[in-house]
Amino acid sequence: MVALYLLILHWFSSLFCQSFFLHRYCAHKMFTMSKFWERFFYLLTFICQGSSFLNPRSYSILHQKHHAHSDTPKDPHSPDNHKNIMDMMIHTYKYYHEILNTEDEKIDKTIEHHYPSWKSIDDFSRTNLNVFVWPIAFLILYIYLEVHPLIILFAVPIHSVMGPIQGAIVNWFGHNLGRRNYDLGDNSRNTLIWDIPLMGELYQNNHHYSCQKINFAHKWYEFDPTFFLIRLLDYFKIIKIKRSCL
Ligand SMILES: [Zn+2]
Ligand SMILES: [Zn+2]
Repeated sequence: MVALYLLILHWFSSLFCQSFFLHRYCAHKMFTMSKFWERFFYLLTFICQGSSFLNPRSYSILHQKHHAHSDTPKDPHSPDNHKNIMDMMIHTYKYYHEILNTEDEKIDKTIEHHYPSWKSIDDFSRTNLNVFVWPIAFLILYIYLEVHPLIILFAVPIHSVMGPIQGAIVNWFGHNLGRRNYDLGDNSRNTLIWDIPLMGELYQNNHHYSCQKINFAHKWYEFDPTFFLIRLLDYFKIIKIKRSCL
């Protein structure tokens, strides 16, 4: 049972960082925050994603390309271009690293190049030490908590690639399965009615319809948990939502 609690805790903390910080702040710039809070959430994202930390610059460029070329051959992670979810994940991983190793000047001029960065975290996240230290830490924790070895074998790999797993679920199912509120030129879908499991990210059809609208839930019966938390952070003046994004 303790493994389940740990997985749920890690799932939602990692997902919040991806949806709130990487997606809506770094890629779409839907709100502003002070340098202190930017560093705070940068560090939180690094801690929550651990060995599978997604570099904000590479994530943002990849994501902007997805919006610009949604479900066309130029889309970096459209289900239309891949035979299964694993094939899409491998291709996205390669493309993500290609961006990581390419200077801004050599990247598509239509992409905006203002992203938060923190050199020491960015550099450390790319080392072998970062890749191995987190799974080992989870392994030690599970052994200390006397979790069954078979459950450890199942849980540790999930902890180790949490960020990419969540990204792949959103990109695969959000462009494959569900309802459409808007008839767009792509194949984006709203997979769930109440998107609690992916914290609003599975309202892809709504998001592609108006990609700068901060609330991904558009119908009265839809609910976007990340937007609810963003509202709270705005209320406590930790962030400031751009009026144009409301
Ligand atoms: Zn999408
Ligand atoms: Zn987006």
